[in-house]
Amino acid sequence: MTAITEAAVRQLAGFKAKKAPVTSCYLDVDGRRHLRQGDYLADLERMVKRARARVDGQASRRDMERIEDRVKAGVDRSRTRGLVLFSCEAEGLWEVFDLPVPVHNHLVVNHSPHVRQLEDVLTSHDRFAMLLLDRQRARLLRFELGELVDRTELFDQLPRHDDDKGDWNRDHVRDHSSAAAAAHLRRVAAAALSAFQEQAFDHLVLGGPDEVVAQLERDLHAYLRARVAAHVSIPVGASDDEIRQAAFDTEGAVERRRLESLVDRLRDAVGAGNGGVAGLDATLRMLVERRVETLLVSESFEAPGWRCLSCSWIGTRGRSCPVCARPMAQVDDVVEEAVEDALEQSCRVLVARASADLDVLGRIGGLLRY
Ligand SMILES: [Zn+2]
Repeated sequence: MTAITEAAVRQLAGFKAKKAPVTSCYLDVDGRRHLRQGDYLADLERMVKRARARVDGQASRRDMERIEDRVKAGVDRSRTRGLVLFSCEAEGLWEVFDLPVPVHNHLVVNHSPHVRQLEDVLTSHDRFAMLLLDRQRARLLRFELGELVDRTELFDQLPRHDDDKGDWNRDHVRDHSSAAAAAHLRRVAAAALSAFQEQAFDHLVLGGPDEVVAQLERDLHAYLRARVAAHVSIPVGASDDEIRQAAFDTEGAVERRRLESLVDRLRDAVGAGNGGVAGLDATLRMLVERRVETLLVSESFEAPGWRCLSCSWIGTRGRSCPVCARPMAQVDDVVEEAVEDALEQSCRVLVARASADLDVLGRIGGLLRY
């Protein structure tokens, strides 16, 4: 497995196969959408079958088998939502990326690796910081694409006292230690702000005892308070695995919220008749005109349609192309064609699971560039 870095993606993008083409495969293995392994294996088999019908050549068949074998060998779905594989055995190319974000199913055989989705993930992923604390300690951890990229430990030693020196002393000690804890939280808030100023993050996740976290939130700078994305219930001394799992879950929750707010924006834009389009025919039209900035699709939405092989027009009605008048090819699922076109145009594509609001809008829609 290769870590997803700009250098790795750039290197792949520059790879040119001469002896045999490269097979690129993006597979959505998100556990929230695919409960069983069989669910995403069926998706993969369908893609391989379609690709085999288009491509012949022993080398590509072997590459597809290699990809299938790798997927069947198992995916750690506690950490992986998207799997990306590139194979060209003839040229010694084999790269696998496990991503904590979902990808859109796509299998392409071409002379160079199809890296667009990988580039999108790299340029648009969110940066998370997790602040774990109690009354004495604090840790700030940063995550990008599911990888722990940095950690800062802040330890504060609270003053120790003997408990058996009488009431006056006990009260005094209690005041003293709560003052020390309050000072600790102010220092943590200040340290979090300077960490943010040094290197910004999009979301902050807080973990610790409720009353400590509540006090810290009061002390946090407004910039940071606005970025609090979740509270997690893991202790300051949690293991890397516990921390990574909590970060992964939070990434999923943030992604769900983003999707909901995009569907809200789409509904408003369509309602206002400005900046948005909904329904299959209208959305395909806007895609053909390259006006879609963000494509939203309900998961499991499929519809038959047509594609013009001369000018690549797509739509639901055939047989001759309304643009160039040539005869068109029938496609089983024009929604999938739309997703592929959107990715080619560098649109953002979001697949909504169980979004009643998007279903009401016709199960597909787009926010427009203009
Ligand atoms: Zn045409």
